[in-house]
Amino acid sequence: MQKLNTLSLAHNFVESHVAAGDLCIDATAGRGYDTAFLAKLVGETGKVVAFDIQQEALDSTAALLREQGLDRNVTLYLDSHANMAQYADTGTVACITFNFGYLPGGDHHICTHAESSIPAIEAGLHLLKDNGIMSLCIYYGGDSGFEEKNALIDYLKTIDNHKYTVLITEFANRPNNPPIPVFIYKRI
Ligand code: SAM
Repeated sequence: MQKLNTLSLAHNFVESHVAAGDLCIDATAGRGYDTAFLAKLVGETGKVVAFDIQQEALDSTAALLREQGLDRNVTLYLDSHANMAQYADTGTVACITFNFGYLPGGDHHICTHAESSIPAIEAGLHLLKDNGIMSLCIYYGGDSGFEEKNALIDYLKTIDNHKYTVLITEFANRPNNPPIPVFIYKRI
């Protein structure tokens, strides 16, 4: 049976909205698990664009994609997700995933920050096509602290409710700052 955690919830959400041939963006490539997941869903006729600011993350992602034979329809960029509007047209993207925090097994000091995360979400919202979705996993506490999480939650509540529906969920009875799954629909 599938474990019920932030990642499985996010993947279930993404899976039910992404189809073969779609264009998707992984805003935080990291070790590439979400990039590979998206690449499988869009198939050979679709495309995935993935970003990370660490070469180590992109190398890891590229290796995973090669291993799974998924590297043909994925383009990796060593750039901040805040610049994603330079890589896709407005209204063309079916799904954008964010996994905030630091690279698993990497340098915990290099992590996402609200200063670039919020502009990236904002840019992503414009790139989404009608009925497009965004999935965000907000990790916090420990080395990540609470600053980014608090700023993200405050920002998410201000998103235009005439164009988007924003669901902020929580594991109410899990200890130790469980990550927060967020689901955004470009429809109301
Ligand atoms: N989804 C990934 C996976 O499947 O392994 C995990 C992502 S990890 C929690 C967060 C990643 O975001 C790190 O690899 C980090 O380098 C990256 N990151 C931090 N700031 C970024 C930015 N401004 N633009 C793009 N990536 C960034």
